[in-house]
Amino acid sequence: MRPVNRGHRPLNKKTGQSLVFKNYRKYSPYLKRSLGTYCSFCERRISDGIAIEHIQSKDIYPELICEWDNFLLSCRNCNSTKGQNDCLNDCYWPDRDNTAALFDYQFGGIIKPKDSLTQQQKEKAERTLKLTGLNRGPGNDRDLRWADRIEFFGIAIDSLETLHENPTDRQRKRTIKQALGTGCWSIWMTVFRDEPDMLKRFIEAFPGTRKECFDDRGQPLPLFDPDPEVQDETLSPETRTQEPEKIDVIVSNPPYFKDNPSLRQIPRYEPAEVLPVNRETSILDWLLASGRLIPRDDEESSIVSEEEDLDVLEEDFLEDDEIS
Ligand SMILES: [Zn+2]
Repeated sequence: MRPVNRGHRPLNKKTGQSLVFKNYRKYSPYLKRSLGTYCSFCERRISDGIAIEHIQSKDIYPELICEWDNFLLSCRNCNSTKGQNDCLNDCYWPDRDNTAALFDYQFGGIIKPKDSLTQQQKEKAERTLKLTGLNRGPGNDRDLRWADRIEFFGIAIDSLETLHENPTDRQRKRTIKQALGTGCWSIWMTVFRDEPDMLKRFIEAFPGTRKECFDDRGQPLPLFDPDPEVQDETLSPETRTQEPEKIDVIVSNPPYFKDNPSLRQIPRYEPAEVLPVNRETSILDWLLASGRLIPRDDEESSIVSEEEDLDVLEEDFLEDDEIS
């Protein structure tokens, strides 16, 4: 399961303020821009009809219905199987855990927890698969997502053979386009597991993939999954007052952040830092000034045309639906 980062809540281009809509569906184009049109669970590409998935059910937690950090994208199968399950802490989530380190994708369309996981991690990984029905495999005639996985394995294997026959940069780019077309990122990562250059390209090409979950050869870093009881005790304000040195050691440098100096973890009882809002400076100026604006590749991807559409959509939203 591809680990993802949906990024910050979208901003109004003119005011620099966070966009706040009363209808959660209005966030859909921004989520698609951040994550691509891929189901966050089964990873299939859903070009039409992909829906906003509320991690914590909107029926049980109506106050989270428009909460950006509660959104993922999902296909109809994953959405309807997940239903209103209230299981935030019982399952792994692609926006907060290194889900690339969890599952083996097998040629027969089966997904299983990795043997290297602890028993406790395996059980949680099993619950994650069951939540969206990804534990269903061949033999299930009503849910054919396994058949898609078999098909995409075949396409990826053909593509790997073609690359071995013609190991050029052009063929590598073709392969990436093909993968973006089918989706199912984990299958491509599995088939190309001995090709570090391609792994890094898949990580880079699929929008919103959380790069800090991988080492410099494109292999997933081990799951950061501390014992919840130890973590709760560590992060409580009372404990912090008593043993500040111990907390600093444990809170800093979780394994998958160690090589990324731009990331840091703030204890949950402290106010989070936010970007300073300067009404005289646009977000574009800020990106330019801080060196975060990176030129596009020469070759345009299919995502680009969607971005252009989004600009039009955003203008519509500003007029119709934005609150305040
Ligand atoms: Zn799905």
